Amino acid sequence: MEMYCILDCFVDEPACFGVPPFLSPYPRYLYGALVDAGVDSEKIRYSTIETLRENEYRLPEAFSQVFLIGGAVVPGKYLGSRIGTLREVERIIANNSGTGFAIGGLISHLIPDGLPGVTLVRADIEKFAFHTVRGDPHDMRRDYRELSRWAVQGAAVVRQHPSFPNLICEIETYRGCPRKTHCSFCSEYLFREITFRDGQDIIDEIEALIEKGIRRFRIGRQADILQYQTPRRKFKKGFPQPDPKPIIELFSALREKRLRGEIAVLNIDNANPGTIYHFPDESSRILEAIADAVTPGDTIALGVESFDTAVIAQNNLKVNRDELIAVLTLINRIGGKRVNDIPVLLPGINLIHGLIGETANTFKINYESLLDIRDRGLLVKRINIRKILIFPGTRAAGEVKRISESVRKRYDFFREKIRKEIEHDMLTRIYPTGAILRDLLVLEHRFDYSYAKQIASYSITAKIPVPLPLQSLCDVIVTGHRERSLIALPYPIAINAIPQKAMEHIPGIGRKLASRLIVERPLQKREDITDIAPHLDRKISDAIRF
Ligand code: SF4
Repeated sequence: MEMYCILDCFVDEPACFGVPPFLSPYPRYLYGALVDAGVDSEKIRYSTIETLRENEYRLPEAFSQVFLIGGAVVPGKYLGSRIGTLREVERIIANNSGTGFAIGGLISHLIPDGLPGVTLVRADIEKFAFHTVRGDPHDMRRDYRELSRWAVQGAAVVRQHPSFPNLICEIETYRGCPRKTHCSFCSEYLFREITFRDGQDIIDEIEALIEKGIRRFRIGRQADILQYQTPRRKFKKGFPQPDPKPIIELFSALREKRLRGEIAVLNIDNANPGTIYHFPDESSRILEAIADAVTPGDTIALGVESFDTAVIAQNNLKVNRDELIAVLTLINRIGGKRVNDIPVLLPGINLIHGLIGETANTFKINYESLLDIRDRGLLVKRINIRKILIFPGTRAAGEVKRISESVRKRYDFFREKIRKEIEHDMLTRIYPTGAILRDLLVLEHRFDYSYAKQIASYSITAKIPVPLPLQSLCDVIVTGHRERSLIALPYPIAINAIPQKAMEHIPGIGRKLASRLIVERPLQKREDITDIAPHLDRKISDAIRF
């Protein structure tokens, strides 16, 4: 019997994320292409790198073909999951000799050619899968006509995911970079052609996923959400003029679904700050529609990469410091309104270390620019600083030099300063003490803490000093702030049940008064607490249950 396996080693690409609880489009499209080619859905298994890790990297059964996807072009740390590495993929191939592997995603560009039984698919693996089943495998790009079928038929794969239904599906709107010229390091421009999905196809896919039990979505698979369906007729400094109409239509339809309760989480991802700076009127209209549609706590991630003017010029980046400040001001004005204490839509800043022309002084310039942003009172939800990963085919691949030890140390020094002096300050302003966060998924235990996050884009980690079951959902109330995470207690606060360590984290109680209150338990009413701890925070006090 012909059995097919979709093996998800997870992806973290500049414009596509698929590390749980995120599910990237790759496995969904693959499943849809196989079904569309005539494969019985009973004969398709979805498996993840995590399942194989538990079994010495051996496949759970015999397959005629494995479609493996993976690739971490933007390596990061993930709570509760680990992305499949190149070494692990090599072990999977070695430990399952006799099985045919087709490898897609950006990892296919990192694996050497010529491994026996292995086909490296450099175009679209779903297209390759479709033609493999039809007996004529070839490596080429799919088009959005095919995708309109595959994306809908592929929704059923979510039921096989070990984390179902606690997933958020990454949704594609287009491929390629609409800018006239491109950044030195970016793999997105390798798509060459810019192709946009039809708005109705996107809605059809989301409806198919809703029908299968998914309620969380991120409109994230694109270079710049503001350029969805841009006609690319008028340009300013190489940035195309965005067309607000199709984006407003798309987000109005999604907003309706959210208001009807069909969508629980709606997020977006990448935007180009150059678009917002050069076209503030069109961008304001688009951002208003987006801020109206998304769920509070969302992030619009901006690829800034560097504040150093020499680095900006040499890598053809998008905006300088003053231009970015104008962009941040606009996003804060439109997205900064709070719903249940949490700002609706805030900017994120992505920086890259290791770009062409970088010097030790670049880090100081980046740090001082971020300090300036902080001191202007602008909110930034997330500052992501990562080392460049050289991707074959980009200009950076030929020009970036090895990073010396002294430069690396300077980078570590300033990254730490940014975390301590800037990110922590942002965190306390974005998530004030007493803010309530809903539906966090418990992903790890470390020491006496449960680590949990909302199933949403760039959600903040909450450290909860109470043991909670893994994979359970909980509501929490913020009681404190660390560098890049929150201290929180399960909401409402069961004051007679929580451990002493948890009580110590309540503002106005602390270690000394917690031991006195523990002796007095069961506490019956608010005064039993305030008699001992008169400086109890108001919002926290309201959250206490006896
Ligand atoms: S603007 Fe630069 S970083 Fe953004 S998609 Fe285009 S080439 Fe890539």
